[in-house]
Amino acid sequence: MQTNNIPQTLPIIEEFYSIQGEGINSGSAAYFVRLAGCDVKCPWCDTKQSWNENNAKLCSVDEIAARAAANPSPNVVITGGEPLMHNLAPLCERLEQKCLSVWLETSGTHHITGSFDWICLSPKKHHPPLDEVLEQANELKVVISSADDFAFAEQCAAKAAAECVLVLQPEWDNRKQSTQLIFDYVLKHPVWKVSTQMHKYIGVR
Ligand code: SF4
Repeated sequence: MQTNNIPQTLPIIEEFYSIQGEGINSGSAAYFVRLAGCDVKCPWCDTKQSWNENNAKLCSVDEIAARAAANPSPNVVITGGEPLMHNLAPLCERLEQKCLSVWLETSGTHHITGSFDWICLSPKKHHPPLDEVLEQANELKVVISSADDFAFAEQCAAKAAAECVLVLQPEWDNRKQSTQLIFDYVLKHPVWKVSTQMHKYIGVR
């Protein structure tokens, strides 16, 4: 796809090479690209610094792709903020040209731009995802804070593709109670898996 008329820069909050700490790809090394901007504004957000684009540095997609390709792992996680607030087609195109595997982390509140090897959708009850993102997600990762959240998780799962991987993750600030809730739920509904934020337990980002 030609992306010449689309902005070739993106507002970057940070980039770093680390280990994916949550979801089904947990444990895999990846280069993280955190974009600025989010209109979902979850009260528990642990990346609030990414909401404001004024905190970001504008970088060209060529520079970002070159930095991503300089790491030993072929995996690149595009995250935020809400990355789909930006047109991601030019960045995806550059990453693909470098034979990198492009993973997206999104709340699904905006249309998908670009093409991805893995879409992890983490839907939010107060700002539900678009059906088109639910249908294209490879992984549905629902954060559970209380027992009420399971109904939302099931509503989302009903719209996801049959092959979408379903995971439940405890809200970190409430992890003791929500981990037990999830444990019990998954035993009764084994189509779901448990995700923990491993990076927080071992103290890396
Ligand atoms: S969607 Fe993600 S980045 Fe945006 S407020 Fe919620 S947790 Fe934070």
